[in-house]
Amino acid sequence: MINKLENKKVINNIYVLSNLKDIYSQIKSDILYIDENGVKLNNNSNIHKINVLLSSYTNKSIFIVIKISNNFSIDIQKKIIFNIIKIFNICNKKNIDIGSIIDGINIKCAIIYENINFDYSNIINSIQALLLANKRLQYEFIYDVVCKQLDEQFALNNYCDFKCDKCIASRANRTFHKTMGCCYSFDYSIWKGANNVQLCKYLSNNKCTINCMACKLFTCKFLKEKGIRYKTNDIPLLTCFFNKKQREILSANFFVDKPKIIDKLLEKNHTPYPLYYLFDCCRIKNK
Ligand code: SF4
Ligand code: SF4
Repeated sequence: MINKLENKKVINNIYVLSNLKDIYSQIKSDILYIDENGVKLNNNSNIHKINVLLSSYTNKSIFIVIKISNNFSIDIQKKIIFNIIKIFNICNKKNIDIGSIIDGINIKCAIIYENINFDYSNIINSIQALLLANKRLQYEFIYDVVCKQLDEQFALNNYCDFKCDKCIASRANRTFHKTMGCCYSFDYSIWKGANNVQLCKYLSNNKCTINCMACKLFTCKFLKEKGIRYKTNDIPLLTCFFNKKQREILSANFFVDKPKIIDKLLEKNHTPYPLYYLFDCCRIKNK
């Protein structure tokens, strides 16, 4: 929904605007200002740690304002998203309502930007995920958003540049197979390596028929030499919503569709990370 004012719009119950004054008088609760450094409550200029501030908070509702400054690097995005997640988790635990009725709409948060050209979609998607009812829905949402982002980037940049079933690496004689790029499945174990290599069963009419994050993150050596590489750590939504073991799951399980990956992400695992890595615990066994 686009508001009459050009610099003020509502996206999925989140107000995005350049000046809080436009809605300030309608906010009926305390305001929690978030930026990459931490949080401030109302007009208090002290920056607080979120846990410290909210542990003694006794009011029933709060309105969150996220401030996006001119420096909107990946690292800053991650810090802001981490802070948003912490606040939602604490408010949920303490039954603090988030949001206010503004212009007749139940607005959950406001994003205040300094520069209209910034892509603040990661912030909006984080809030949307946190508003979902449970972890499975949150994980599915983040998974879909990131897969879509990766698909769009590959399509926009035409990295693999297929011509007559041969990708750019294949035409440069840098692939093992002559056609269909790297869409060949295999069984893998950390001890035995890859075996049972065959054209992927999910390839149909030259298109992938499943939604596999690991395949979407993958680039071959030829593309990596050109600087085209996707690491889960460089994608704010993956870094903030998934821990290190879960990010291993996302990047290691090739040829596996979303439902099995989500099940694996939801598995409780208390193995220390070095052992988890050594014993290849991230791998989904029955594909
Ligand atoms: S990642 Fe490399 S091998 Fe795979 S399709 Fe793209 S260019 Fe070809
Ligand atoms: S699952 Fe992976 S390897 Fe198989 S068709 Fe899809 S992208 Fe290609």
